[in-house]
Amino acid sequence: MSRHDVVVIGGGISGLSFAFHAARAGRSVLVLERSERAGGCLASHRSAGGYWFELGAHTCYNSYVSFLELVEACGLRGEILRRVPTKLRFLDGDRLVPGANLGVLLRLFSWGELALHVPRVFGARKDGKTVEEFYGAIVGPRNYATVLGPMLSAVPSQSADAFPAGMLFKSRATRRKDVPRSFTLRGGLQAAIDALARQPGIVVETGRPVTKVSASGSGFAVETEGGERHEAGVVAVATPPSSAAALLGEVAPELAAEASRVKDTVVETLAFAVRTEKVRLPVSMFLVPRSDSFYSAVTRDSVPDPDWRAFSFHFRPGLSSAERVARVTRLLGLSQADLEEVVEKRTVLPSPALGHEAIVAAIDRHSAGRPLAVLGNWFGGLSIEDCVVRSRSEWERVASKVEAPSGPGSPGGAAARPLLREEEPVPGVVREG
Ligand SMILES: Cc1cc2nc3c(=O)[nH]c(=O)nc-3n(C[C@H](O)[C@H](O)[C@H](O)COP(=O)(O)OP(=O)(O)OC[C@H]3O[C@@H](n4cnc5c(N)ncnc54)[C@H](O)[C@@H]3O)c2cc1C
Repeated sequence: MSRHDVVVIGGGISGLSFAFHAARAGRSVLVLERSERAGGCLASHRSAGGYWFELGAHTCYNSYVSFLELVEACGLRGEILRRVPTKLRFLDGDRLVPGANLGVLLRLFSWGELALHVPRVFGARKDGKTVEEFYGAIVGPRNYATVLGPMLSAVPSQSADAFPAGMLFKSRATRRKDVPRSFTLRGGLQAAIDALARQPGIVVETGRPVTKVSASGSGFAVETEGGERHEAGVVAVATPPSSAAALLGEVAPELAAEASRVKDTVVETLAFAVRTEKVRLPVSMFLVPRSDSFYSAVTRDSVPDPDWRAFSFHFRPGLSSAERVARVTRLLGLSQADLEEVVEKRTVLPSPALGHEAIVAAIDRHSAGRPLAVLGNWFGGLSIEDCVVRSRSEWERVASKVEAPSGPGSPGGAAARPLLREEEPVPGVVREG
């Protein structure tokens, strides 16, 4: 049995950014992660030779101001890498459609249908409409089904048709002019997870699926599959909605009921590296198939490497490993032996639908005043920045529920500290290169 101020369930960016804020405020934090590696959708595969590629999230923008604050506070300012712009390309079966970005969209659209529908953009409102209803009305149903729909589904790696139209894209007010518009981190975005996990006051335990949360004294007891028990004054659930619903059932049935109304879906990722000379496809692409067994493919060339290229294919669920490999080798004109560093990952993602905002509002209403936080990519939005923003506001809401530490000898090992300025070294963080 262990006792911490805060237990976080789920070691993705939501859980770790919550842990960061709690630890910075001097609280002791235990993060319990189901899989063998923390990071969730932030998953960078690193080869022994130092080459890396992403299985999940790949791009951050200079509008991710809250994420950047964490990156800098963890001493990673010098690790920010500018990404070479990625081109949107379409695949028709195994054929790469000529043209990129807006050009390829205009090439593929039926102009007659577009001309008939596009005037509807004036006065079109997203409220109460799905992505398919809103965008289908503007480009026409056939253009939507064969061009725009596949493109919009490639972004969240799942069918976006039933998403609330207002949730897919977000314009953010602030941009950091001192940071490249589109960036990643040296070694991949996993570097942010690794650095957060090393912060003083945070203990991350992987391979620890949590099975139960119950009330204990004035706080909670959290139990893992292996039978371990951890007690804390504050618990944060930072898992996909189905896991959150299961975990909250006993301690907060009304929260569990709301969480269970959010559906989730699975994306199966196949990623691998290939020697540069073996690949004929152009570099730095976001590949959208018009109709295929995968939603999208991302090339790793946004941070170029002279010897290697890498691809991540995000497949619909239901195929075997061999079928996925067969699909990508045929498409790329490669043999199975050409694929190196092959890695696969199964990710559970939320599938928000109309009425999602009301569910989030109900969760917030039911958790008001309780030392229980529900976090994740199903609140503000799917992006990394949305996750970090939610985690910070939830920490601010529950912070007063665990007694503030009295000084540097407190369990967190430090009294409450502001975020560091970028020049300040962070104890425990080793700078590479
Ligand atoms: C293929 C892909 C590409 C993306 N690209 C981008 C991008 O370029 N830019 C961007 O901003 N966003 C991108 N996103 C979205 C973004 O990465 C995610 O929304 C975000 O990282 C989710 O973080 P999270 O912590 O909320 O959830 P997750 O990352 O899903 O983490 C939840 C964690 O909870 C753990 N867990 C679940 N149940 C339990 C349990 N019972 N006990 C313990 N642990 C449990 C899981 O194992 C997981 O590690 C992408 C997502 C995907 C899948």
